[in-house]
Amino acid sequence: MIDSTELATPLSRHPARPDHPLISIVAPCYNEVDSVGAFVETVKKSLAGGDFGVELVFVDDGSKDGTRNRLEAFADAEPNIRVVSLSRNFGKEAALTAGLDHARGDAIVVIDVDLQDPPELILEFIGKWREGYDVVYATREDRQSDTFAKRFTAEGFYRLFNKISAIKIPENTGDFRLMDRRVVETVKTLPERSRFMKGLFAWVGYQAIGIPYARPTRVAGTTKFNFWRLWNFALDGFVSFSTVPLKVWSYFGGVVAFLSFIYAAIIIGITLISGRSVPGYASLATLILFFGSVQIVSVGVLGEYISRLFVEVKRRPVYIVDEVYSGKAGTTGESV
Ligand code: UDP
Ligand code: MG
Repeated sequence: MIDSTELATPLSRHPARPDHPLISIVAPCYNEVDSVGAFVETVKKSLAGGDFGVELVFVDDGSKDGTRNRLEAFADAEPNIRVVSLSRNFGKEAALTAGLDHARGDAIVVIDVDLQDPPELILEFIGKWREGYDVVYATREDRQSDTFAKRFTAEGFYRLFNKISAIKIPENTGDFRLMDRRVVETVKTLPERSRFMKGLFAWVGYQAIGIPYARPTRVAGTTKFNFWRLWNFALDGFVSFSTVPLKVWSYFGGVVAFLSFIYAAIIIGITLISGRSVPGYASLATLILFFGSVQIVSVGVLGEYISRLFVEVKRRPVYIVDEVYSGKAGTTGESV
């Protein structure tokens, strides 16, 4: 007979995890020469003595500051470190995609290399994964390390995104997470070029759970995301996961047309009653300017979608690998 409590817990259906799993740590790096040393140390310290194997997959995203050499020196010293070097800077989303493609673990952890994603949490991730969750993500409970402007805009972004997108992404959650192999395999089948990873991770679904943490400040270096890059990142998210910005204009136009008819009727009425023609150079000019700009904005929104369609149909690869380096013995020259 089926135990009813077993049916009530959704996790009971999941296959058992391997006794000695391999955990892949995927870390994209762009000009992080001063962070990688501390990162490797902390990861080693946090995961020492666990009953699992660990491989570190660094993706050098076209760094210009010697990050690649530093990473390859680590790969020489440690057998479980691999460095996937991209041929130029492709951006964090592409670097993450490359890392997921090269990870071999039973579970894959995606993490920033600047220690803003504390590696100590990985043990908790693994614990939850062993309980049966397929995705364990870290939620920033305390964003004190971010500037007020960043917190404010991030909050607005999540709120708007979750309102206009059918796929909900957890608020205050970055890419830092553990994913089961089958989740990563599913993400890998998604063919799009514009890779808003947080959205893709949410889109594939599976059993997920969040773990709260306080986000520390960077260990070294500075953020790679200035305002302009973040703005484009947010646009990518909206355009990739919602068609609301595209469709809203028909409704806006409909409402304005309706209001215009009412306004026209009022003017005609007033003219018939008082025989006075409506003065109004200023109001006319304002209206023309207003609707002119609304039209330009709506054409701009079309442009956002069309430019992404253009990128998609060209079907260029998301990233190009220059070399996969796994220490002096085992390097493969590879291109994707
Ligand atoms: N990163 C990358 N390619 C880029 C920009 C950033 O691989 O073009 C990496 C970076 O090295 C870091 C992670 O993405 O490991 C997060 O970047 P950052 O810390 O600058 O972002 P923030 O934490 O400020 O959002
Ligand atoms: Mg950071």
